[in-house]
Amino acid sequence: MLKKLLLLSLLAALIALVWQLGWLDALTFDNLKRQQGELVAFRDAQPLLVSGLYFLVYVGVTALSLPGATIMTLAGGAVFGLGWGLLLVSFASTLGATLAMLVSRFLLRGWVKQRFSKTMQKLDAGIEKEGAFYLFALRLVPAFPFFVINLAMGLTRIKVSTYWWVSQVGMLAGTVVYVNAGTQLAQIAGPGDVLSLELLVSFALLGLFPLLARKLLNSYQNRKKLQGWKRPKSFDTNLLVIGAGSGGLVAAYIAAAVKARVTLVEKHQMGGDCLNTGCVPSKALIRSARLAQEMREAENYGLKSREPEIDFQQVMARIQQVIQQIEPHDSVERYTGLGVEAKEGCARLVSPWEVEVTLNSGEVQRITSRSIVLATGAEPFVPDLPGLGDVDYLTSDNLWQLREQPERLLVLGGGPIGCELSQAFQRLGSQVTQVERGSQLLPREDRDASDAVLNKMQAEGVAVKLEHQALRVEVRDRENLLIATNPEGEEVAFAFDRLLVAVGRKPRLKGYGLEELGLVPETGKTLETNAYLQTLFPNIYACGDLVGPYQLTHAASHQAWHATVNALFGHLKSFKVDYTFLPWATFTDPEVARVGLNEKEAKEQKIDYEVTLYGIDDLDRALADSQAYGFVKVLTPPGKDKILGVTLVGPHAGDLLAEFVLAMKHGLGMNKLLGTIHIYPTLTEANKSAAGNWKKAHAPEGVLRWLKKYHEWRLN
Ligand SMILES: Cc1cc2nc3c(=O)[nH]c(=O)nc-3n(C[C@H](O)[C@H](O)[C@H](O)COP(=O)(O)OP(=O)(O)OC[C@H]3O[C@@H](n4cnc5c(N)ncnc54)[C@H](O)[C@@H]3O)c2cc1C
Repeated sequence: MLKKLLLLSLLAALIALVWQLGWLDALTFDNLKRQQGELVAFRDAQPLLVSGLYFLVYVGVTALSLPGATIMTLAGGAVFGLGWGLLLVSFASTLGATLAMLVSRFLLRGWVKQRFSKTMQKLDAGIEKEGAFYLFALRLVPAFPFFVINLAMGLTRIKVSTYWWVSQVGMLAGTVVYVNAGTQLAQIAGPGDVLSLELLVSFALLGLFPLLARKLLNSYQNRKKLQGWKRPKSFDTNLLVIGAGSGGLVAAYIAAAVKARVTLVEKHQMGGDCLNTGCVPSKALIRSARLAQEMREAENYGLKSREPEIDFQQVMARIQQVIQQIEPHDSVERYTGLGVEAKEGCARLVSPWEVEVTLNSGEVQRITSRSIVLATGAEPFVPDLPGLGDVDYLTSDNLWQLREQPERLLVLGGGPIGCELSQAFQRLGSQVTQVERGSQLLPREDRDASDAVLNKMQAEGVAVKLEHQALRVEVRDRENLLIATNPEGEEVAFAFDRLLVAVGRKPRLKGYGLEELGLVPETGKTLETNAYLQTLFPNIYACGDLVGPYQLTHAASHQAWHATVNALFGHLKSFKVDYTFLPWATFTDPEVARVGLNEKEAKEQKIDYEVTLYGIDDLDRALADSQAYGFVKVLTPPGKDKILGVTLVGPHAGDLLAEFVLAMKHGLGMNKLLGTIHIYPTLTEANKSAAGNWKKAHAPEGVLRWLKKYHEWRLN
């Protein structure tokens, strides 16, 4: 900090001195014209001294971002001629520009990075990849002010050597024009005469050249990746989609809607995880569990509470009925009707354009496609826990076949799936122990949100064991035990009848040709794509749980739109996938829903924020429903009503959040929310009340004092 202050003071003193001495006033076109003769005579008398002085002054003017570089450049030509003048100007301007960039970096980068860390990360990644091209384009076009480029590039992580050579080469064309104009000083009336419209347009075109070159290079690199693979002369289909889950179904739907020929291949069940083993069954289970809990709490409503008689088989049968009711939406028949060629079988990539499909009937087909969308999803991650294989453990894949209710269920994992299922099973009458190695449930959420879930689950009887690291599974005297270390580091044992593993989901990467094509990431994590959802092969796209980072149905659909549109129309226009306004919810009671930043992330990213809280315990409708708990927490920048993020905890939080998602997506702030009529009495009034709390905290106190005086005066 001290060094920065010292440099800042030194720079300020230098600029003040230059100003005071009136040197900048002397740097005018008329002065140059008037004194050209004297300057040339001086140069003839002392060529080296004059060249050295000129060089230093030029560097000083540009390094301090002072006005006058144009006159200095013209002077270079007027005094030294084209050759020597060009040499001096070219090196002095590059040195000055690099110094200005370094000063900006030293003084400002840390501060900017701290405030806008996410944006800066993206910018740095872009600069690392394409920075030289963009800088070159900017340098070629004199319309972009020289000093602005220096200051702005200082904020990035561009390499000094890259900055130097790109600036030197990029500014050369403009420098030639100005230095040459300086040699013809008598013929021009001012700096404005140097660049004609034609010349400006030529420079702009020249500026486009590196970007064009970049595009050509990209297309060359893409072709290179496909080298060695025989491209079919023609294709059977425009798009082939592997996997008919949330991502694949949307991809096929969109392709058919825009009249592309599309083939969809599903090896297991149409609808994928969401319909068969994920969102749908879990929400159906949660509904039965909620009713059971409501029966226990009936006295809150003036009815007799009673312990529900759980018919577990019926609960599980109802889940299958719900799946069957939704199934037609995702069926082969529906998609065939939409114009999709739906195939039930296992797909395997054999080349970037060719897929081998082993149909359920046993027939094997080879299908060529111009583009492919991989939407093969993820599966439960099963940790390498000694002894786990000795017990018939459950995952979200096989849980739905369970017909006998476990008396003691041990749930491993404190994420959304673990929490939803723990609470549901406890409510349905199992004694649930939930083991989580972290210090809170729902680790992505703020502590207050996670604590609200923890407290409710504990109150309902779930034995939540935080900071417990699972070590192994043992079977002792026909008793299943999970051995874990507790926060004190001691070994503890938890007995269970069934164990549900819910510690995350891993992308499906193996067994269908990704390895052979070299597409499996070295990290072993999610499949790598660029922002357009393109894999290493430019015609193979991917979406959904396979790609992440959000393993959610609506994230898969959002990505599927991008992957499909880019696959079909990317040669005309591509769309980057953006997750800024992606919401999600955990369907525990209370529900926890979020969009945008929470406090944890704002702190990590060093973003300044204010918190506005509204407690749902105060809301009329929630009180009428005897469900007055939870809160709305809104993050805004200090003093502004822009919404940075919202965490909603309480009944129907996932539904209530929609208003905030819309507001954020369309740039509506807290004032607009407050000015919107909400139906009384509904839970949505919680959103308006949060906006009201924000307004109260930002009331214009001074104006209100005056208003008070005004009303007092009106009383007379
Ligand atoms: C218990 C649970 C609860 C959940 N709750 C929610 C929720 O409430 N809200 C939410 O948004 N998300 C929820 N999710 C997540 C959601 O289910 C997934 O994000 C979503 O299903 C991902 O869709 P996808 O298309 O990427 O993959 P999937 O739905 O898994 O589909 C992939 C499909 O590809 C097929 N396939 C794989 N390989 C091949 C091959 N070689 N050939 C042919 N077919 C192949 C698979 O059989 C599968 O059908 C939940 C998940 C679980 C497990």
